Amino acid sequence: MATAITVAHGDGIGPEIMAATLRILREAGARLDVEPIEIGEAVYRRGVSSGIEASSWDSLRRTSVLLKAPITTPSGGGFKSLNVTIRKTMGLYANVRPCVAYHPFVPTRHPGMDLVIVRENEEDLYAGIEHRQTDDVVQCLKLISRPGCERIVRYAFEYARRTGRKHVTCMTKDNIMKMSDGLFHRVFREIGAEYPEIGKDHMIIDIGTALVADQPGRFDVIVTPNLYGDIISDVAAQVTGSVGLGGSANIGDTIAMFEAIHGSAPDIAGKGLANPSGLLLGAVMMLVHIRQADVAAAVHNAWLKTLEDGVHTPDICGERTSARVSTDGFADAVIDRLGHAPTQLTPVAYSNPPVVSNHATTLLPRKRAAKAMVGVDLFFHWDEAAAGLAERINAVTNGALTLQMITNRGVKVWPNGAPETFCTDHWRARFMDANGDGTVSHPEIIDLMRRVTNGGLDVVKSEALCTFDGEPGYSLGQGQ
Ligand code: NAD
Repeated sequence: MATAITVAHGDGIGPEIMAATLRILREAGARLDVEPIEIGEAVYRRGVSSGIEASSWDSLRRTSVLLKAPITTPSGGGFKSLNVTIRKTMGLYANVRPCVAYHPFVPTRHPGMDLVIVRENEEDLYAGIEHRQTDDVVQCLKLISRPGCERIVRYAFEYARRTGRKHVTCMTKDNIMKMSDGLFHRVFREIGAEYPEIGKDHMIIDIGTALVADQPGRFDVIVTPNLYGDIISDVAAQVTGSVGLGGSANIGDTIAMFEAIHGSAPDIAGKGLANPSGLLLGAVMMLVHIRQADVAAAVHNAWLKTLEDGVHTPDICGERTSARVSTDGFADAVIDRLGHAPTQLTPVAYSNPPVVSNHATTLLPRKRAAKAMVGVDLFFHWDEAAAGLAERINAVTNGALTLQMITNRGVKVWPNGAPETFCTDHWRARFMDANGDGTVSHPEIIDLMRRVTNGGLDVVKSEALCTFDGEPGYSLGQGQ
């Protein structure tokens, strides 16, 4: 029986690589009932700022599978990234990006590379909550949640177990972002303990990315927050030989989206130069997901044989190239090889996944922490020096909260600031409980805000300071 899938042809090189991919799938005998939708540039141009119409969401909910070519996000204000919108609206929390070297057929300096990046797909700086707060300063909120970390980390370990991979590396920047990235790392340790047979380690993302670029053969599965995952997977795909080789699966509890990892490549659109391999490998992952593992293996092996025979698009040409072909020519070559397997590269074998798999929704048990509010950070738009701000605040402050410190871009500048510290017009003033009973009430904070604003100060934001089971739920100022 045919499986209904939603298909978006995308922008730039999207329509060319999607046509090539669908042709290969059809010739391979994929049992698909294709529902096309239009998303991206044309929809944005019609004034739909999300880039997707309501009817397209309906199709996606009906089929629960989307094969999507890359789309162009118009730059400039007013347009949200459609890719991010789809991933987050549909709860596609896991982005799986295998990056494999095809040595010696595709030029690469790292023949042994075979790694999978499991990127958290909904949180982090991609929350998309940005504000301009003063003349000088804009902010972007980085949101990391415990359920978000648990779901992606468990997905990574389950993926490793299911695919016979032996090691999971977690990459974060928790030496700097101790609370947000620290949570991701802590959850990695907690959930990792349930998988004793799988090796595990943690690396700081900067050295981790450098090692992926230089010694990718030492990695197996990498799990990492959203932004780091985005960057490191482009690095990894490029190191395999071309960003055009990377396919990607975006997995949620009920819906899944499959795509290439690269963008719409407007520089080569319409020229027949695009490599359809990334989207094709995304489609192979889709076929396994919809339990057509036999067709997935046939397509993947024919594709490997094509590389091995030296039939290459321009981006992967090298010494082993026997024929430099267009996007369509490459699709023809893969179709010609259906039913054949590579003899030097390792052939793939797939089996259908279990019908029901909801392991990733299992969250660790926990009890609600005892939460106490102990202070508040108020952020000010202020054009003069820290001492003047402290003086103005202290002139009006109430008895419940005491000004403890002022920071500028996170560095303590009052009291006892360093004269060298560069200051902008954006200040954070930390107020703590004054009478020492350890708690602060909302009316006390509102009274403080009324007093400082009546005193002519411009408050641009407030942030409650709480303890959770006695542990501070806020970071210290740099230099505090
Ligand atoms: P890109 O990935 O489109 O292109 C980067 C470089 O890689 C270009 O030189 C391009 O020619 C080359 N390249 C990409 N895919 C290729 C392929 N299949 N074959 C051969 N060469 C290929 O990145 P970009 O130029 O930064 O972004 C272009 C547009 O794509 C932007 O509007 C961006 O927002 C969008 N984008 C979309 C997605 C998506 O839809 N998932 C992802 C990333 C970027």
